[in-house]
Amino acid sequence: QPELSGDFAAIMEWADQIRRMKVRTNAETPADARMARSFGAEGIGLCRTEHMFFDDDRIVAMREMILSDVEKDRRAALAKLLPMQRSDFAELFEIMAGLPVTIRLLDPPLHEFLPKSEEEVADVAKAMNVSAEKLRQRTEALHEFNPMLGHRGCRLAVSYPEIAEMQARAIFEAAVEAGKKTGSPVVPEIMVPLVGIMKELDFVKARIDEVAKAVMDETGTTIDYLVGTMIELPRAAIRAHVIAEAAEFFSFGTNDLTQTTFGISRDDASSFLETYRQKGIIEQDPFISLDLEGVGELVRMAADKGRGARPGIKLGICGEHGGDPASIHFCEEVGLDYVSCSPFRVPIARLAAAQASARKA
Ligand code: PEP
Ligand code: MG
Repeated sequence: QPELSGDFAAIMEWADQIRRMKVRTNAETPADARMARSFGAEGIGLCRTEHMFFDDDRIVAMREMILSDVEKDRRAALAKLLPMQRSDFAELFEIMAGLPVTIRLLDPPLHEFLPKSEEEVADVAKAMNVSAEKLRQRTEALHEFNPMLGHRGCRLAVSYPEIAEMQARAIFEAAVEAGKKTGSPVVPEIMVPLVGIMKELDFVKARIDEVAKAVMDETGTTIDYLVGTMIELPRAAIRAHVIAEAAEFFSFGTNDLTQTTFGISRDDASSFLETYRQKGIIEQDPFISLDLEGVGELVRMAADKGRGARPGIKLGICGEHGGDPASIHFCEEVGLDYVSCSPFRVPIARLAAAQASARKA
């Protein structure tokens, strides 16, 4: 386990004394969560749950779930995943020992879950007891030309509410389990991705609240929890005052917000952005350092609108910019409560957040 030590650790402690913003980490594995804590992370700002379903023992069940057109069968596939998700979350809660943990509901581009080879089609067809031909047709029906602008995030939770319900149940049951084990109550933060329309959030939140009530009744335990959303679409920023009526926190997903504001693919852009930089059209790759004039303005506007509608709303950032010093200075200026970044960036984020506080003072 890497540790901060000696003079470096001392400098970090001085930095912490003047830092206002909290620094959390983006982590979904126990190893990353532990490493981030050893670097000083004060919680998890983004647990990307889609990464949890690619193991051999999970991907077939997930494919069954996505490819079945019968709700009962989808629920049966999800029932196989529930205990695994429960232990995923319980472990993260335990490692974070009472620090805040934000878990994001499933947000894959759907194609990542579809079977690709004949062998994968055959495996899932067998598990579902249908012909390979039927499964191929169903897979094709879900094909998208632009998956990153497609059936992902909360859109998936609207089409398949049972996924959100399974994940919410896993989160609440894990919170009860970890709370008992550690002796301090866990307050999970459940984050709904890719919201652009307030009713999307309303729809998903209603399911989460129902599950919370059921788990509280079953376990006889009170669970405090927050439901919030990512702000990662320009429409969400524009409608932030309305979305804040249903959201207890906002986390700025500046990777997608940059992609959708510029209309530039985050997965393909690097080569021409470098040309743009060389020719002086842009100063920085906006996927690395926040574009303050455009994307930043949307962040500022949404933060103001969110606070206007819900004073004290918790505000954070979990896009890659949360670990970029210049972007962190901007986050301080806008008054975010925390930044969240990959584990190895936690120390630099602590330092940058402290410098931003010092500059402001
Ligand atoms: C984002 O869009 O900024 C974000 C954090 O989510 P992801 O990178 O998983 O899309
Ligand atoms: Mg995103």
